[in-house]
Amino acid sequence: MPLTTVLFHGLWGLVGVLLAELVRDGYHVLGHYYPPLMRLHSWHHRVYRKDFTPVSEGLYRQAHLVNDVPEALVMIAILAVIALVTGLWGLWAGVVYSFTFLTTAIARSRGWLITTDLTHEPGDLTTPPSNWWVNRTYHWRHHFDDTNAYFSGSITLVDKLLGTAVSLKGKTVAVTGASGALGQALLHELQRQKARPIALTTTSLDQFSGDTPVWSWQPGAETDLEERLRGVDILVINHGVNVHGSRTPEAVNISLEVNALSSWRLMQVFFSTVQTSSHRATKEVWVNTSEAEVSPAFSPLYEISKRLLGDLVTLARLDAPCVVRKVVLGPFKSQLNPIGILSADWVAWALVALVKRNVHTIIVTINPLTYLLFPFKEWGQGIYFKLFSRPQ
Ligand SMILES: [Zn+2]
Ligand SMILES: [Zn+2]
Repeated sequence: MPLTTVLFHGLWGLVGVLLAELVRDGYHVLGHYYPPLMRLHSWHHRVYRKDFTPVSEGLYRQAHLVNDVPEALVMIAILAVIALVTGLWGLWAGVVYSFTFLTTAIARSRGWLITTDLTHEPGDLTTPPSNWWVNRTYHWRHHFDDTNAYFSGSITLVDKLLGTAVSLKGKTVAVTGASGALGQALLHELQRQKARPIALTTTSLDQFSGDTPVWSWQPGAETDLEERLRGVDILVINHGVNVHGSRTPEAVNISLEVNALSSWRLMQVFFSTVQTSSHRATKEVWVNTSEAEVSPAFSPLYEISKRLLGDLVTLARLDAPCVVRKVVLGPFKSQLNPIGILSADWVAWALVALVKRNVHTIIVTINPLTYLLFPFKEWGQGIYFKLFSRPQ
């Protein structure tokens, strides 16, 4: 057989496996929304305790019989039909792949196979949730964080498309810089997502109305927040100052202290609160750095301090005990930037939409150069930092 033919069938083989995974995830989504399948799928959710040990062998076997066996049969049937209709031989790889699910599901339902699959292995969660491939921590959240999210079984594509790769429902989210334009827009958007936002501000508490809790804090006193941050799921570091054209020693001090150092210390205090399995699964930090990491902001001290923060976040990500998102936003209208083009509401909406798709470096801007330069810079610098520094 010529090499090109082998490659052609091999490629369709991979597509077949991917399609099988998509069918599996689609069947799982229906298991949460289509009542006849909900009855069968609920057995799967009854099997596990919070450390993924099965409640009983009987329940474990029953769940595989009524949930996993029909799921694998549906995968086989749909993939076989697609392979027959298209006449593409490679797609039969998807059928063979689905058969492995059927055999292990039958073996587990009969008690012949006791060991569980990788995503349900019992024990503490030791790593944060993964991004493109489903690890135990990722799937744990489907059972114990939000059962109407995190549907993907192996590849996270379906969750990324549906916006169910991160659930904000019921999450306590503390936002610094809450009195600014983006802070306000974000609090509103988080409420819309059924999260429980908390406003952190260094200015007067009087300007906040409504039922959002407000905490007062000051740069330099980050450790005072430690006790309160224990109960926070997501910390959004969003405060900042812009001294514009000033270059006095005071302007240098305040820019470095507020924009870079206080954010760094706050992040470290939050990291110290990540202690249990469920913390590792659900806690996150989002840091609003800046486009100034890769392009001019016509405010040298703003650029210097935000670039320092951006680099510190890249460094912190290497060993962070939870997910750390870098947020890079274009010019939106605010007190810091009265001539901004984007609206803060739209930016907050886009930011949250990308978080729900588990994007780790979130870019929302109108500058096409940022989309080109930023991922390259982030990737290159991450590797450089990893090579030339040690965690201990
Ligand atoms: Zn489920
Ligand atoms: Zn499961």
